[in-house]
Amino acid sequence: MKAVTYVGKGDFRITEKPEPCIQDPRDAIVRVTMAAICTSDLHIRAGAVPRAVPGIAVGHEFVGVVTDVGEDVHGIRPGDRVAVNCETYCGDCFFCRHGWVNNCTDPKGGWALGCRIDGGQAEYARVPYADNCLTRIPDGVSDERALLTGDLLSTGYWAVDIGGISEGDVVAIIGAGPTGLCCAMMAALRNPAKIVLIDTDPFRLVFARRHGIGDIHIDPATEDPRTVIEGLTDGRGADVVLEVAGGRDTLQTAWRIARPNAVVVVVAMYEETQTLPLPDMYGKNLTFKTGGVDGCHCGEIMELIAAGRVDASCLITHRFPFSRAMEAYDLFSERGDGIMKVALVMDPAPKE
Ligand SMILES: [Zn+2]
Ligand SMILES: [Zn+2]
Repeated sequence: MKAVTYVGKGDFRITEKPEPCIQDPRDAIVRVTMAAICTSDLHIRAGAVPRAVPGIAVGHEFVGVVTDVGEDVHGIRPGDRVAVNCETYCGDCFFCRHGWVNNCTDPKGGWALGCRIDGGQAEYARVPYADNCLTRIPDGVSDERALLTGDLLSTGYWAVDIGGISEGDVVAIIGAGPTGLCCAMMAALRNPAKIVLIDTDPFRLVFARRHGIGDIHIDPATEDPRTVIEGLTDGRGADVVLEVAGGRDTLQTAWRIARPNAVVVVVAMYEETQTLPLPDMYGKNLTFKTGGVDGCHCGEIMELIAAGRVDASCLITHRFPFSRAMEAYDLFSERGDGIMKVALVMDPAPKE
């Protein structure tokens, strides 16, 4: 089969790999129908993910059809259309029992797919712990609407949850890329007073506004986010801040726009060490929560999608046939042509 393979630092290629087979009774094999490219894939390509194993097929955000299951898989059957969780997890270890599946201690747990074991930018993928990590896609839900369930929408769901966003809150989200917008979509379900999106890229703000995501859209080059948010909150600051951007000074913006006793959720992955100027924030009594999605709520997310309450398919601005995956990578990494999210569309299955 063909797969986008991490050959080595700076080198992704479509290569030929053997088709996966069941290795553990809890595995399933998925014929991939659509896969997304994620910023984390670019981090792997750049050699910035030390855990990533050269030679693996990348891809951790995909949907497909189950072709085979191990004998201990009970919730999923061959023929089921499924969304795949970006994190595979055992469900039994200390962390899994607390719902902290990102920290699953199983060797195949946490972010393994497309990082430490073969992932889903391939014709077929083996998914460990299939009962935990596959979510059936209802008939009325298209691949595009389901595609972002396992990673981006899970991240939004998780960030909103640990941020404790509740009705009437003023929520500030720094970063209006695909992850920030999924956070905003999930935050909107909690009836906040206002969702304020902040990004230095005017295109992303226009995109968000055009799709009705967020209430107030701020470009820090033209408006001071702190002034705007203080204006909305009698000078207090945001009730919850989600820092999704991971820019040079965005962590500083995050704590500055937060009101005293706010929760600041750091969703972003930084390339550089950050500092918290504790003397400056003394008395603000902030709570910081740090990133790493616990992707174990895909069932709830799929219900929201099926009910029409969440639809992230508008973020998929570009589609490429799998054979042109490398072109898709180039466009995505250059952020050209108004790209938000790109889907790799696999060839249809051969008729049986
Ligand atoms: Zn990802
Ligand atoms: Zn576990």
